[in-house]
Amino acid sequence: MPDLTACAECSTFQGSMWFLPEQGRIVCGSCSPRHPIQNCYQISINVLSAMRHILYSEFEKCFSFTMSDEGLSQLVVYTENYMHTQLGRGFKTLDFYNKL
Ligand SMILES: [Zn+2]
Repeated sequence: MPDLTACAECSTFQGSMWFLPEQGRIVCGSCSPRHPIQNCYQISINVLSAMRHILYSEFEKCFSFTMSDEGLSQLVVYTENYMHTQLGRGFKTLDFYNKL
């Protein structure tokens, strides 16, 4: 499970954040130049809030939120990339679903 509570370097909770799928953590804009930009995403506060909600809320409520279509599209990209990076593989069923 990624640690999305705060910047992994300085513990800043809010502001511009970067998501590092390989490391499963976030860093703030001030700390991000210390990390490679490859395979990381500047994450909006809305998408970060949604990801925090999914991770840290009760299971029955983890998908009880609304957000814009653009935010949902970003959420899909970040979370699928995280899953693929952590598991080291894709899923044929997910590939099929994404082609629909
Ligand atoms: Zn920081």
